[in-house]
Amino acid sequence: MENEERAAGDTTEKRTDIKALDYNRLQEYISGLGVKAFRGKQLYQWMHEKLAEDFDQMTNLPESFRKKLKDTCTLTVLRPVDIRTSTLDGTQKYLFELEDGNVIESVLMKYRHGNSVCISSQVGCRMGCRFCASTIGGLTRNLLPSEMLEQVYRIQKLSGERVSNLVVMGTGEPLDNYDALLQFIRMLSDEHGLNISQRNITVSTCGIVPNIRRLAEEDLQITLALSLHASNQEKRKKLMPIANKYELGEVLDACRYYFEKTGRRLTFEYSLVGGVNDTNEDAAELKHLINGINCHVNLIPVNPVKERDYVQPDRSVVMAFKNKLEKSGINVTIRREMGRDINGACGQLRRSYILEKE
Ligand code: SAH
Repeated sequence: MENEERAAGDTTEKRTDIKALDYNRLQEYISGLGVKAFRGKQLYQWMHEKLAEDFDQMTNLPESFRKKLKDTCTLTVLRPVDIRTSTLDGTQKYLFELEDGNVIESVLMKYRHGNSVCISSQVGCRMGCRFCASTIGGLTRNLLPSEMLEQVYRIQKLSGERVSNLVVMGTGEPLDNYDALLQFIRMLSDEHGLNISQRNITVSTCGIVPNIRRLAEEDLQITLALSLHASNQEKRKKLMPIANKYELGEVLDACRYYFEKTGRRLTFEYSLVGGVNDTNEDAAELKHLINGINCHVNLIPVNPVKERDYVQPDRSVVMAFKNKLEKSGINVTIRREMGRDINGACGQLRRSYILEKE
């Protein structure tokens, strides 16, 4: 499937995307070229540990080997076209250009406990959530595993900061690009690469039920975040078209299954939209809905998107919602708004870039 997708918009389909080969597959590839195995180890280290941008930087590889690689492979590297740094909290937003000219965005957030990167999983998105800027232009294409890795690699290289946490919460629906996502997670947490602990990786989904169940069986230790955003099926359908496909009950069953299989506590994301899902009754209904699930609720005061007329509830309403949940013993946090001065919210920097170009 991956190859077919590449062929659709890519003139280099005959070449091997070498950064997308995991450690074992790279070893096989190298032996197929008739090159000694230790060269494979060196090559992997250059790409996934030293984060090289060019075969010519790989100075301990013989020139003949580098030439062979240049002739038969592509080395996926993202080009930064805009980097913005928030003067409020140091958050950095990166706009990267892909080889086919598409642009994606990624974010670096600095916390006391470490640095967290938020990556995109697709160019655009086809899920259509009403409040989200990333979905406005629809889906252009899936990202390759190498393009997901590169977002982390380039940010670590350009910022000079070690990345310790990763969230797949940028543009796109990660479970709509399942195979590439899995390859990416396995490689990012591989001991031969950046070796980021799976416990520090969170994947956020709008709730594609079969793929939540599949993910539960992959023997991974990542955190699953479910975008809930409403406390009943009717309201959820109004905000999220995906709810027409999967009933809320089915989605929560899949979440319970995820916990059963992995032992990982779930995160429920709930974007608070003024006058839509922020009342006392909503909080009470939410409490019943998730009762008994080992979870944590992350409240996100909705980020107003120019094309939509949703508004943030007043701070007092947000606090009341939080208190109501907490009183019933639910662990709740309010997402800190990072990088407000640099188009921090989902898909907004990319959107403004595309609009400027039009
Ligand atoms: N497709 C994935 C990842 C999306 S982005 C998913 O649906 O989970 C991560 C989170 O930000 C999701 O919960 C998403 O619903 C939320 N989000 C998107 N746009 C938002 C906005 N304008 N305000 C608040 N939250 C938003």
